Amino acid sequence: MEKVQVLIIGSGPAGYTAAIYASRAGLKPVLYQGGQPGGQLTITNDVENYPGYADGVMGPQMMTDFQKQAERFGADIRYGLVTSVDFSSYPLRATVDEKHEIEAESVIISTGASAKWLGLESEERLNGKGVSACAVCDGFFFKGQDVVIVGAGDTAAEEASYLANLANKVYMLVRRDEMRASKIMQKRVMSKANIEIVWNTEVEEVVGQDEVEAVKVFNNKTGEKTEIKAQGFFVAIGHQPNTGIFKDYLDMDESGYIKTIPGTSKTNIEGVFATGDAQDNVYRQAVTAAGTGCMGALDAERFLAAKEMELA
Ligand code: NDP
Repeated sequence: MEKVQVLIIGSGPAGYTAAIYASRAGLKPVLYQGGQPGGQLTITNDVENYPGYADGVMGPQMMTDFQKQAERFGADIRYGLVTSVDFSSYPLRATVDEKHEIEAESVIISTGASAKWLGLESEERLNGKGVSACAVCDGFFFKGQDVVIVGAGDTAAEEASYLANLANKVYMLVRRDEMRASKIMQKRVMSKANIEIVWNTEVEEVVGQDEVEAVKVFNNKTGEKTEIKAQGFFVAIGHQPNTGIFKDYLDMDESGYIKTIPGTSKTNIEGVFATGDAQDNVYRQAVTAAGTGCMGALDAERFLAAKEMELA
């Protein structure tokens, strides 16, 4: 069994930032990248809102930069998926790719979340070419244009309002005759003159070869089909945190986001810290994820130092 001081699970901005801090602190962190090395940013194009990149940066490039920075200080970054954990006793345990056993003095979880998609072929094909699951990341590219957003929860309402400040017109597709979003968020959407809510409506296809040109929709009450001309297509039907392997040990909310002690990255298990989108369903930005990754590493460092004092 391999023994490590700090095991970092996941490789988005949170995981790599935790690796930068932990390696600079001399803790020799081992980071497993998971099924999608670099995380959600590897499926975005230009990132223009991450401080320090004055001219913007491509998402995959940014994650390569993060990785290199962590490796520069000796972080051991590895391919591999942590397939199970055992936090029932200390030291903590994890299994990689169902075979490699690790005993860890501390674990930093940065497994992120995945946006939910409608599951249409056209949606997948045009992803990053007008199709996006993040209005704050990509809304800017549709300044003065027409966009469609799918969803009726708080996220969709918030993102529709955000888009309305940039786009010419926002069509908000709601599959029922009411919205799930809180009353105040609904009010905000309704107060925007350039948001048109299209009720009882679902998507059949996103139209376009190399960029979004229109969206084919149908009314699920009447069956009537229409085509909405739009250059952007946003999906805001929720996120799924990648936290399934921790559910037997960690406190989570009803959607599976890990609960942390406010103002820290500490979970209900000593030595286990949660960072990034795995514990954040509100901000979900690269910069906030990186910030909590830093918190995770500092909390782990303090935890290990206190443990050492106990043993001394
Ligand atoms: P939710 O699960 O709350 O809402 C998802 C929305 O997407 C629902 O309206 C749902 O429709 C719709 N939807 C799901 N699948 C489909 C589909 N296949 N086709 C069309 N529509 C679909 O997710 P959110 O991301 O909006 O919110 C998650 C949590 O985060 C909530 O607790 C929310 O309150 C919170 N949040 C709070 C914010 C704030 O307070 N400012 C901001 C953002 C999120 P239906 O209603 O018909 O099921």
